[in-house]
Amino acid sequence: MRTTGPVIGRFLTELRGGRIVGVRTAEGKVLVPPLEYDPASGEAVTEEFVEVGPAGTVTAWAWVAEPRDSHPLDRPFAWATIKLDGADTALVHAVDAGNAKALRIGSRVWPVWRSERTGHITDISYFAPEVTKIVSPVRAEYRLQVGGSLLTFLEGVERGVFLGGRCPSCEKVYVPYRVFCPACGGPIADQLELPDTGTITTYAINNLPDPRAPEVPFVSAYILLDGADIPMIALVGGVPAHEVRQGMRVRAEWVPEGERTKSMANVRWFAPTGEPDVEL
Ligand SMILES: [Zn+2]
Repeated sequence: MRTTGPVIGRFLTELRGGRIVGVRTAEGKVLVPPLEYDPASGEAVTEEFVEVGPAGTVTAWAWVAEPRDSHPLDRPFAWATIKLDGADTALVHAVDAGNAKALRIGSRVWPVWRSERTGHITDISYFAPEVTKIVSPVRAEYRLQVGGSLLTFLEGVERGVFLGGRCPSCEKVYVPYRVFCPACGGPIADQLELPDTGTITTYAINNLPDPRAPEVPFVSAYILLDGADIPMIALVGGVPAHEVRQGMRVRAEWVPEGERTKSMANVRWFAPTGEPDVEL
């Protein structure tokens, strides 16, 4: 055991009080943790103590993926050098960042104090990153009363076919099936079955999880079914997200017949057919 000198002793006493102090050197720098002598000049420090922090900035860090019993945290953490606000030197402490990606040089961290302090460096349990962003899961559930034409379409989907409607005047084919032509306003009487193959016209790579998507990132796309004039939106699967492209030929992957309901969940996603791309 080593007895602490007056400088370190003061530092530890202040920790017990929930404060972090440094000591000023003859040159005016603030050393944290304080030392009896300025490591730069070898001169004795002054007797002036300066409260610093409590927040600071990470200047370097190393990730500990598998903490040992002797470590301050029982979950993965970082050993970091932290320059507390007002200090000219950095102290080493644990940072509970959750994962290595949450930490970078320049990250702002705050001390998390132990509730019962004894005047020891472990009075600071660890440092934690400043909260600058809150990721909060939001879930909205909709129950739509299915109208007549959409019900017709979903009954088709239950049988494994996409039903479209052809406008008798402009001859445009709409999917999902609808009863009025949005272009000319006339009624659509002709119902037709469309193939479950089509072409990706546009797509988006999504990096936020979605209960309908199997993994992140996933791709949602506008797919122009063969014979249709209006694309429909669907998931794309069976292909890495970065390989999805405009003009790619795809086919619907249906869930097994016994599991089908009157819902678009019958289509797991559209997967590439392997055919050559189509010029759009
Ligand atoms: Zn029309």
